[in-house]
Amino acid sequence: MPTIIGTDIHQAADFLRKNETVGIPTETVYGLAANALNEQAVAKIFEVKNRPFFDPLIVHIKDVSQIHLFAADIPKLALKLAENFWPGPLTLVLKKQNIVPDLVTSGGDTVALRMPNNEMTLELLKQLDFPLAAPSANPFTYVSPTSAVHVFDQLQGKIPYILDGGSCKVGIESTIVRVLENSLEILRPGGISEDALRSFLPDVQIFGINENISSPIAAPGQLEHHYSPFCKLYALEDHIKLDVQIDAVIYWSKKSEKLKDSGAQNFYFTENGEFSEGSKNLFALLRKLDKGNFKNVLFEWAPNENLGVAINDRLKRASAKRSSII
Ligand code: AMP
Ligand code: MG
Repeated sequence: MPTIIGTDIHQAADFLRKNETVGIPTETVYGLAANALNEQAVAKIFEVKNRPFFDPLIVHIKDVSQIHLFAADIPKLALKLAENFWPGPLTLVLKKQNIVPDLVTSGGDTVALRMPNNEMTLELLKQLDFPLAAPSANPFTYVSPTSAVHVFDQLQGKIPYILDGGSCKVGIESTIVRVLENSLEILRPGGISEDALRSFLPDVQIFGINENISSPIAAPGQLEHHYSPFCKLYALEDHIKLDVQIDAVIYWSKKSEKLKDSGAQNFYFTENGEFSEGSKNLFALLRKLDKGNFKNVLFEWAPNENLGVAINDRLKRASAKRSSII
């Protein structure tokens, strides 16, 4: 099938009404969207991405009030979070309503909901009378796409349309939280930092990413090896132990202390160490290295605070060995 890249929201909506999948821009990464309430449409997402069915999808909605259509027994805390952080990179895991197909939730009784912060996609959602299930628009386990061309590079011929909304402003996936009556559990670090959640909710108990109270099943699909480029990534501090020829080094910032005489080409996540710039550049840089045929790449971790936590989570998985699946 021919794949069109365009800015025609009506055309994108028509394909979605016909149960096709469409690449959509969001502030986090590009999504591969389909009608979340139609199992046949949702099945196409898994097929195009080669995604295993145990990995549930996030459902994208057009406004806060739609929470009630797809989630049940909603804690007040969830509404408070939605009102404050939506549209934005925060996904809420809540008890699901029956209307949400099992395929979307991998058979579980919870659904992950989010209102994305992208004008084109919000307009698209307004034109539709169903929400959109959308994981990142890339083959399973590869680097997430942050531009329409990234989506085209890998999914051309497999999807009819990519809605081009420019490059993603946040560049890293949403923070996923499970919301209970008076506590929160961060299941995946992402575009809203733990600090931002804590300062918004000073009186609420927040379980950070390293102190999850639930079993690993709470965030299925979080693989140890994920977001992975074809080149091999190694943490900078491990370079002494390596006996491979390093051909590129990605430093956190232009101001980072450089390796002497490495002979490798230097890249930077950021000019001056700003987290938002680092998250915006992360995936595009990994894709650029693959396009440039780099084979062995060292990277410097981000400072492990603020959005650096989510960036380091992605770098950890991107550099994990391919056999290691939790
Ligand atoms: P992505 O592939 O970036 O769209 O992220 C989807 C991720 O959201 C999955 O891999 C899960 O880890 C998480 N997720 C989706 N639905 C649920 C759910 N019902 N409960 C817990 N985590 C979920
Ligand atoms: Mg993904």
